[in-house]
Amino acid sequence: MARSAIAVARISGREALAIARRVAPGLPEAPAPRTAGLVELRDAAGEPFDRGLVTYFPTPASYTGEDVVEISFHGNPVLSRTLLASAQAAGARPAEPGEFSRRAFLNGKLSLLEAESVAELVDAATETAARGALARLAGRGEREIAPVRDALLTAHALWTAAIDFPEQAGEEDPEEIGRQLDSAAGTLARLAAGSEIASRIASGLRVAILGAPNAGKSTVFNRLVGYDRAIVAAEAGTTRDTLEADVEIGGLPVRLVDTAGMRETGSAVEAEGVARAREESRSADLALWVHDAVEPWDDAARRAWNALESSCKLLVFNKIDLAAPPGETGSLGLSAISEDAAGRLSVEIGRRLAVEFPAEAAGESVSRRQRDLIVRARDAARRAKEALGGREPAEIAILSVEEALAALSDLVGESTTEDVLDRIFARFCIGK
Ligand code: GDP
Repeated sequence: MARSAIAVARISGREALAIARRVAPGLPEAPAPRTAGLVELRDAAGEPFDRGLVTYFPTPASYTGEDVVEISFHGNPVLSRTLLASAQAAGARPAEPGEFSRRAFLNGKLSLLEAESVAELVDAATETAARGALARLAGRGEREIAPVRDALLTAHALWTAAIDFPEQAGEEDPEEIGRQLDSAAGTLARLAAGSEIASRIASGLRVAILGAPNAGKSTVFNRLVGYDRAIVAAEAGTTRDTLEADVEIGGLPVRLVDTAGMRETGSAVEAEGVARAREESRSADLALWVHDAVEPWDDAARRAWNALESSCKLLVFNKIDLAAPPGETGSLGLSAISEDAAGRLSVEIGRRLAVEFPAEAAGESVSRRQRDLIVRARDAARRAKEALGGREPAEIAILSVEEALAALSDLVGESTTEDVLDRIFARFCIGK
């Protein structure tokens, strides 16, 4: 519990109003629905401790679908504890994490996808992620899934008819079934790809700063971070380990990684650092290679750059205040010690990352559970399509369509089991 301007206590269930009237005896027996009234709040011993705005939401027009009373009072943890104790003395019990949203789901007020969006909205780390969660809370998930289910059901019906009543249904229409399966698999593949990108954005994109010792990596790192995190030294080989910092570039959360110079070395500590740098270049979402423009851009230098194992990389010629950069296409000439260095670099890094990670994709973020189910449905739809023209008996092939449909009903929460619900709602914060 933190200090804030106001705090809100929420009581849900059949006894909600009776309990609220013991905490706030000034509350009328039948308060006007959804209208806030100012009343005195009493502790467990009946002593006044604050005044609060109390609002009554009678069933079914409430968040949980049950009778709900919300009490807004001053946001002091001492008062919160007093209020909770008073409500408990009056017969309430503390809610489990996510219990309100779980009841809302069980009472049909929220779909499972919408309930999960509530948790995401509360947890969203960036504005785009919050907007995405809000869109899903408004039912976008269901709207995207509905045509997929329709397509699968149509394919299923056509296929079943062809198997069961070959005379009436005439020839099985493999083309139409194939079209429906392709459409379902296509949408599912798009949703899966979007959620994969979103989850990588959510965990922060790794930008590794690599290059020979003394090229200016630490200076570049410090400029981007905005303060002196790394030790900048005029001597080669001082960055012995990787240093990391979280920054935001082009609206994307970025984890910057400063690595030790990549060169063959005798020192064991440095060798370890070099190994880590190679590792970094492989796992980075963007590898930023810094080359000292004073040093020759010869075959050996080009080989080092070309050997970088990253699908997305940016070549930076640093220290252009000392030497003119060679005209490599796609490279960036920079003086890391100049005023505008961070700005120019950020723009360039942001531009490269945006190709693979458009900031809007952050809004596609879904839970691990949802992603797994989408992938399962996608794979099953693809298998069904493959089986369509294959040798497998149709009775077997059609099971893949059923598997895809089952994954989708799990996704929206139609067939979700208790323990899955437990796991989903346990991630919620208390009071949601
Ligand atoms: P690292 O070993 O790659 O991390 O390189 P550092 O960032 O420690 O920089 C090595 C030296 O080059 C330091 O003395 C920096 O001040 C200097 N340096 C870095 N960038 C520039 C630049 O753009 N121009 C000039 N003149 N010196 C720079």
